[in-house]
Amino acid sequence: MEHEDLTLDPADWQLFSSTATRMLTDTVAYLEALREQPAWRAMPDDVRQSFTAPVPWDGAGLDRAYQEFLHRVRPYTNGNLHPRFFGWVMGNGTPVGMMADMLASGINAHMAGFNQAPALVEDEVLRWMAELMGMPGASGLLVSGGMMANTLGLTVARHVGAGFDIRAEGLQGGRPPLVFYGSTETHGWATRAAELLGLGRRSFRQVPVDEGYRIDLRALAAAIRADRDAGMRPFCVVATAGTTNTGSTDDLNGVADICQREGIWFHIDGAFGAMAYPSARLRPALAGMERADSLGVDLHKWGWLPFECACVLVRDADAHAAALSIQAAYLNETERGVMAGGIPFADRGLELTRSFKALKVWLSFQAHGVAAIIRIIEQNVEQARYLAERIATHAELELLAPVPLNVVCFRYRVEGIPDRELNALNEEILLRMQEAGEAVPSGTVLGGRYSIRVCIVNHRTRYSDVDAVVEAALRHGRALAGAAAGR
Ligand SMILES: *Cc1c(COP(=O)(O)O)cnc(C)c1O
Repeated sequence: MEHEDLTLDPADWQLFSSTATRMLTDTVAYLEALREQPAWRAMPDDVRQSFTAPVPWDGAGLDRAYQEFLHRVRPYTNGNLHPRFFGWVMGNGTPVGMMADMLASGINAHMAGFNQAPALVEDEVLRWMAELMGMPGASGLLVSGGMMANTLGLTVARHVGAGFDIRAEGLQGGRPPLVFYGSTETHGWATRAAELLGLGRRSFRQVPVDEGYRIDLRALAAAIRADRDAGMRPFCVVATAGTTNTGSTDDLNGVADICQREGIWFHIDGAFGAMAYPSARLRPALAGMERADSLGVDLHKWGWLPFECACVLVRDADAHAAALSIQAAYLNETERGVMAGGIPFADRGLELTRSFKALKVWLSFQAHGVAAIIRIIEQNVEQARYLAERIATHAELELLAPVPLNVVCFRYRVEGIPDRELNALNEEILLRMQEAGEAVPSGTVLGGRYSIRVCIVNHRTRYSDVDAVVEAALRHGRALAGAAAGR
């Protein structure tokens, strides 16, 4: 009997190789020419409406599919690769990281564990990260992003702090409510995690901040005391190293002292800010980070690796595994063979099948050297200070928050115009800047005042790109203010 042996491997490897080579050459050329492109371009309606094809039952071939990508996908991203992209907190990716992702997909390693070379790469990367973050010897895991890294940290904290076997019993009532703390500037992951972990949103106490957008330590201590008096069980304080709004960092030693005194878990959300810790120059602002029980840090923001890549570190390895390990007969470790060494990574997070993210960290750290990465983080901070200085000394511009790190919040101002109108005017400045493809800051509101927010986590940004933001803000601001005055 004749069998047809079907596969998805190419019928003609030579032909595949030539297309693959072209994809690589095209992408390298695209990266090289980024600076000549607009920072962003809106997607034309016909392109937007083109994503309506029926299920493609019959294949058109890789060349045809690739053309669709080139014409309809690649030109219309949010622009975060561009040297003048400063919105939200978004990394840019690197050519080295791109190649690492390709190599990782090429071997398609299953990263539940398996004690082979890929697992040793992740072990090594985690050891490097623990050392760089001031937590040598910590347990850790590479995960998709800060949301996941921080949620895992809180999960371990909840397990340790519950005072009963929360994995067995869950949160089914009849016990003191568990509560945890952060500030009003804590990123939205904490609320989501509170919901997801069954704690409920109200269990997350958002303590006010001081004028530097740092958690008010006295209010924090008072909140913990009040909750204890009310019969609740405080189990964790979340401090932030580098808040999203303004780049502020809580007094980490101050929070650590409170946690120590109260005997509760100290978690740090260091999504981007923690990456400044290895810099001798920037570390003083992060003093106390080394005292965290757990830390979440992104490698796809200020580590510039392609999405996704983040790291959670937990000082107490046993607590980490105890909170998350899984048991199943089909996952049992064997003495020898492929399963020797078990699946330790699956025991430290939520995912069983995991991608080989570790390779891009490993290759990137080795290829560039960590010193080069840290030097560019320092450069971003210097660029932010330069921008803050330009704004502070310009009569038509106003700084709206301190600039402790890499985030600059400012607005265009016109004497005698009330905040409400300035808010609308500044939002319009931002949108015009984006739509013209000049630069992509994002917006935020600080104390009721609309702010153009420039967050520099960009290894491609030059000082001239920072100047371009100032000039664009002034040009659009003057045009809008002039139009308003002439009305
Ligand atoms: C970006 C960010 C997060 C979320 O991280 P993702 O990588 O987007 O999941 C959490 N906290 C802070 C302070 C952030 O900047």
